[in-house]
Amino acid sequence: MKIIRDAKSLKSERAAMEGSVGFVPTMGALHQGHLSLIRKAREENDHLIVSIFVNPTQFLPGEDLDKYPRREEADRKICELAGVDTLFMPEIGELYHDDEVKLKAPSYLGYILEGHRRPGHFDGVVQVVMKLFGLVQPTRAYFGKKDAQQLRILQKMQEDFFLPLTIVPVDTVREEDGLALSSRNVYLSPDERRRALSISRALKRASKMVMAGERSAKRIKETMMETMDEIDVEYVEIVDRNFRPLEEIKLQKSIVLVAAKVGETRLIDNLWL
Ligand code: AMP
Repeated sequence: MKIIRDAKSLKSERAAMEGSVGFVPTMGALHQGHLSLIRKAREENDHLIVSIFVNPTQFLPGEDLDKYPRREEADRKICELAGVDTLFMPEIGELYHDDEVKLKAPSYLGYILEGHRRPGHFDGVVQVVMKLFGLVQPTRAYFGKKDAQQLRILQKMQEDFFLPLTIVPVDTVREEDGLALSSRNVYLSPDERRRALSISRALKRASKMVMAGERSAKRIKETMMETMDEIDVEYVEIVDRNFRPLEEIKLQKSIVLVAAKVGETRLIDNLWL
């Protein structure tokens, strides 16, 4: 596995690759969720590039940029074992320049729900992903359905800018007890982790209600809120694939979204119906 830290070397490494290139962008502190993206990308492409970059522009002032977990050594080993060809770990100055051209997330999709709670967050996401796409020029790029809104925005970016690549969505990986894997789970104390489990429990209840024939978004949201009574729920919303709120569940077309604070840790999770 080659470790590359500067943009110029990545460009020449990429230029020498023949055939398809899979790309998995991450912020590191890799877990089984990331690995699922990496494995899929490994299977589907001739070459595999993974990036690890804690992107400062997608953090708001006061968020956890400084304490975001960094585990370079462990991440390196995980990538090596997973058959990654090239691991790109740039410093900020390799990716960002002075007074640069700025992309903006869509005014609706980028500023509701996560974008409403974290205004500007998705501007930073599209900025860094566009840069990485420019450098890596992937055939396929892999993103988790766990970050459903991010995934939809990046699909829009691909469509709106006619980018010559395929965005591949990957299912959410969970712990055995249901908790969605996240680099931020390391912040949780044992008691917070126990309380955080109510998020996946609420989503499971929603799924059971829908399977039993319930279609009212209101009733499903109420039941979910009751389940999550020990945590600070920021929103529970049921939307279509373009994130327009739904009153009635439509099968194959709905996503149930949750964001909650458990202690100081902000968690998101969702269910694709
Ligand atoms: P991050 O390092 O948190 O920016 O995540 C990098 C990629 O991994 C994103 O596309 C995430 O959606 C994806 N991801 C994070 N957690 C999970 C998970 N539990 N299951 C599947 N994909 C995930």
